[in-house]
Amino acid sequence: MPELPEVETTRRGLEPHAHGQRITAFRVYERRLRWPVAAGLPRTLAGQRIVATGRRAKYLLLSLESGTLIVHLGMSGNLRVLPADAPRILHDHFDLVLDSGVALRFNDPRRFGSLHFTRGDPQRHRLLAHLAPEPFDSQFDGDYLWRITRRRRVAVKQLLMNSRLVVGVGNIYASEALFRARIRPQRPARSLSRADCARLVRAVRAVLGQAIRAGGTTLRDYLKADGSPGYFRQRLYVYERAARPCRRCGTAVRAITQGQRSSYYCPACQQ
Ligand SMILES: [Zn+2]
Repeated sequence: MPELPEVETTRRGLEPHAHGQRITAFRVYERRLRWPVAAGLPRTLAGQRIVATGRRAKYLLLSLESGTLIVHLGMSGNLRVLPADAPRILHDHFDLVLDSGVALRFNDPRRFGSLHFTRGDPQRHRLLAHLAPEPFDSQFDGDYLWRITRRRRVAVKQLLMNSRLVVGVGNIYASEALFRARIRPQRPARSLSRADCARLVRAVRAVLGQAIRAGGTTLRDYLKADGSPGYFRQRLYVYERAARPCRRCGTAVRAITQGQRSSYYCPACQQ
């Protein structure tokens, strides 16, 4: 599933191809995404220039002259840059055709992705208005994490993955950040000290930042029509490494289940 680093990687991959381009046509092949694509959208979008690209949580934002397109990749979606006349493949649902001759093409086998257009401030759109802070926001700091953990008995990993408290920390990154911060995933959130909270915030940012940079590297081939979504590859310390030696100390990595998701940790490095 695309997580925050994949969405940011997608944004960075699109940016040089999209910025400043005019949309010559919006072609919809399948309107039934998570929410139906608005019927009048082709007429609304045609002729508008893309003035900026952005991201909020896992939403991609394309700022146009008269509003903003809000794209969500869902569980399985990707937005690729292709020559506008590239043959369509199964699950291609829409094309934003640009005057440079390329198309931003959305493919999503499971159709949990979505596309909205708003003329107002996108941050006040119903999909974005109530989102928690971004991991890279100054608001998400050690004090914030300390405050929100005080009364919570829930395991720290589940708290990190709660998008009402901080957005964009998925299963892989929660496990990896806790390893870096040397905190066991099952620790009750309220047992964290101020120092633990500060270390964990730094670890979350470091892991996500590294994944974004790694994703940027694989996206050099972004113009290829092979459908490769360009997900990052990086050196994981514990995720999906059950029973294998910890990369730091050699102790066997353990796997446990928390809230139906697998968590991984080193019993020697993490307390
Ligand atoms: Zn270890």
